Amino acid sequence: MGGSEINYVKEAFDTNWIAPLGPNVDQFEKDLEKYTSARYAAALNSGTSAIHLALVMMGVKRGDEVIAPSFTFSATINPIIYQGATPIFVDSEEDTWNMCPDLFKNAIKDRIKKGKKPKAIILVHLYGMPAKLDQILDIANYYDIPVIEDAAEALGSSFKGKSLGTLGLMGVLSFNGNKIITTSGGGALISDNEELIKRSRFLATQARDDAPHYQHSKIGYNYRMSNIVAGIGRGQMEVLDKHIALRRANFEFYKKHLSEFSGISFLEEPNSDYFSNRWLTCITVDPEQTNGITREDIRLALEAENIEARPLWKPMHLQPVFKDYPYYGNAVSEKLFEIGLCLPSGSNMCDEDRSRILQAIRGSVEKK
Ligand SMILES: *Cc1c(COP(=O)(O)O)cnc(C)c1O
Repeated sequence: MGGSEINYVKEAFDTNWIAPLGPNVDQFEKDLEKYTSARYAAALNSGTSAIHLALVMMGVKRGDEVIAPSFTFSATINPIIYQGATPIFVDSEEDTWNMCPDLFKNAIKDRIKKGKKPKAIILVHLYGMPAKLDQILDIANYYDIPVIEDAAEALGSSFKGKSLGTLGLMGVLSFNGNKIITTSGGGALISDNEELIKRSRFLATQARDDAPHYQHSKIGYNYRMSNIVAGIGRGQMEVLDKHIALRRANFEFYKKHLSEFSGISFLEEPNSDYFSNRWLTCITVDPEQTNGITREDIRLALEAENIEARPLWKPMHLQPVFKDYPYYGNAVSEKLFEIGLCLPSGSNMCDEDRSRILQAIRGSVEKK
């Protein structure tokens, strides 16, 4: 927390705005609009509900197909299933670890050949790293398929100076406890399309028609953000840039001190078009170049020091619950899952934390 969050929350208590609407919600949406340069934002109760609503907005229904990367967190995919639609998994490319444009194009062509054009695409910017947006958007535009950007991990990241989440038709943000800023739990949809955001807000508040009594002509959801939580969000927006600077400093620290070890590589911005918030610093460990030291050796060495580090996301096409859905692959995500590690990356790490982590990693790499 930055410090001012509690004041906004207190304001909500003092004025008795304890509801899924109110001045904090309105202002938090304005803050998000200003920060991302999206014209409209709708604050919601999670990133997952934002993805779900975006799919509803795109008209995704039972039997439809939605293209999504295999290399992501399951929350990207679950809402596709909520809609009774079929996820079509596409593997990653090696530069940004995000959806591979070539495989993406092959997947669209093949689905069309099989008789069904995908209804929407969810493009994920994993670990804050922008996907290959130029290529992906070109292909999506060519086939006239709307793009939902899952920027849940990428608030503050940009591509060619534009905030992630604003390049597709709709963008998804998350303020869950583990993200770059947090409201404890929360999310948002952003878009330049006023109608889409208006309708999202409408459906997120139980689709209540404009009438003095309770009248409904659509199925709604209870997905709005509470005014308490939005108060935390307002305070967090004041420290977002600071968090990004701290996360990027974590990356620089690790890179500076671990680059000397051959076989350890970093997820890096391919060129100056890409700006990552560096939500998490991620490495890959190639045992052929480290004298046989694996990512797991490093993870366990850290664990022995009571330091938690996690493998990268396990690809969706390998998940028991999703393994039977179509998958267009090249084994890149499988390899990343095998050799990749997320290093401790909190915005609140101090020098002592960092040197303790470094010592543990060094110890494990130098052992053999
Ligand atoms: C966190 C996350 C989500 C879901 O956001 P919640 O606010 O936790 O529901 C979706 N996609 C990705 C890639 C995420 O990391």
